[in-house]
Amino acid sequence: MRALALDFETRVVAEREVPEPFLQQDTEVLFRVLEIGICGTDRALAQFELGSPPKGASHLVLGHEALGEVIATGTKVQSLQVGDLVAPMVRRSCSPPCVFCAKKRRDACISGNYTERGIVGAHGYFTSLAVDHAADLVVIPAGLRAVAVLMEPLSVVEKAVHLALHAYEDRPRKALILGAGPIGILLALVLLARGIEVIVHSLEPPSDIRARILQDAGASYLENDPPQADLVFEAAGSADAAFLAVRQLAPSGVAVILGAFNGEGAFPFRDLILGNRKVMGSVNATPMAMQDAVQDLQRIAPRHLHQMIERVPANQFTRTLFRAGAAPKFVHVLEE
Ligand code: BGC
Repeated sequence: MRALALDFETRVVAEREVPEPFLQQDTEVLFRVLEIGICGTDRALAQFELGSPPKGASHLVLGHEALGEVIATGTKVQSLQVGDLVAPMVRRSCSPPCVFCAKKRRDACISGNYTERGIVGAHGYFTSLAVDHAADLVVIPAGLRAVAVLMEPLSVVEKAVHLALHAYEDRPRKALILGAGPIGILLALVLLARGIEVIVHSLEPPSDIRARILQDAGASYLENDPPQADLVFEAAGSADAAFLAVRQLAPSGVAVILGAFNGEGAFPFRDLILGNRKVMGSVNATPMAMQDAVQDLQRIAPRHLHQMIERVPANQFTRTLFRAGAAPKFVHVLEE
């Protein structure tokens, strides 16, 4: 079967033939991949800025935001059935498991020896068929088919919101989100659904579809001068935005850094201490966050989610990996 993969020897992204997977254990599930979402991590992978192939291989099949349909189940699988829509969790535990992986919190793995399908040390889903253990799959109600590909990024957002709400020592009134990409928009939708005032600050003009989705959903959109807020989320993938997130924290506020990687700058320790401000990073999703994502996919007005997505055929990957899109989220539709 065809798959889209990174070749780490030639440093090229290309389609290639890979063997069809099959059920090897009675707790496994075989599913047809229906759709693959593309995010900033895929674009960084396509530039060979991060990622690694599975041990012994020189290529990595891309695709970690997957939607599938179950076509066969092992004899011990009870949690799902043929025909179910499923979204896989991305991260796999380290082995032997660290204390966090042992309690099913592989998102918080402390050994660093985890793998992530389509990102680190394990093939992804940008192909026709895939196999996973049932425990690594989340069932999505059939009625959510049109937006279910957003499950994975939404689960990343759910974890970040959960962390922020628990760290804030009262009910937060105002949230500031830096960045209006898919993560920024999903953060806004989730926080608005929890009755929190949301302001999004990003570089796109107010006429951009991203700003329009946000305003239609009830968020304020600002190109300049973001205010202070109780919760601040960095979702721009830039160190400047991360430092801004810390500076715009109100006293007792909580900042969550989601996308910024490298960068240098002054860190306001004094303000942190005297204002009891908290800054945290968050990656991947807890199993609970996956369930929260299923709930929120049903709670958020479908039009906001639909407007985020632009569907393109599988062979148009150069467009989605190397060029910015008109819509916030490119989704590849895989042929049968
Ligand atoms: C994925 C996460 C993953 C992270 C780091 C993100 O794009 O959505 O599941 O943990 O990248 O690799």
